[in-house]
Amino acid sequence: ESKKQLIKDNIQSYPDFPKPGIIFRDIFSILHKPDLFSVLRELLTATAKSFKVKPDVIVGLDSRGFLFGTIVALDLHLPFVPIRKKGKLPGPVITTTYTLEYGTSTFEISTDSIEEGKNVLIIDDLLGTGGTLEAACHLITVLGGNTTGCLLVMELTELNGRSKLTCPVKSLVQY
Ligand code: IMP
Repeated sequence: ESKKQLIKDNIQSYPDFPKPGIIFRDIFSILHKPDLFSVLRELLTATAKSFKVKPDVIVGLDSRGFLFGTIVALDLHLPFVPIRKKGKLPGPVITTTYTLEYGTSTFEISTDSIEEGKNVLIIDDLLGTGGTLEAACHLITVLGGNTTGCLLVMELTELNGRSKLTCPVKSLVQY
């Protein structure tokens, strides 16, 4: 718990970014300091191991989910698969469009990236409304995978994003 508090204490907050009324939580303030990034890595990997169903694949979400998804994938010696914003992935993809606070966005995953029946742990930096993770879960379901967990560094609890998700959700730091 003290390690989680250390991470929380060092995540810098920016009021009124990117819009008035929003407090932006900047995880790069941790990556600036290698000692803190190591602590964060240790917490992420330990939490990834703590899910009841063991993953076969780690999925990271564009783009900050790549920073944390790849280190956990290496630590657990599991394949890493990216979900990317529209138009970034080569080859055949499946696509889903989802709603953000203002407007929409589109996610893609490579068609051949997850085999049917594989258990997937999704990793991202932050859970807000849950729309982003919901879209990612949808893509994994279409490919025949099972999302067996979602792991976030940060969670904005009052937005209740968990209610949109049917799998176990764990976050290291809550606001
Ligand atoms: P949701 O779809 O509302 O759950 O929003 C989650 C997505 O928005 C994540 O991919 C985050 O990277 C991004 N996001 C929203 N607010 C913040 C913030 O304060 N800091 C960093 N990322 C944020």
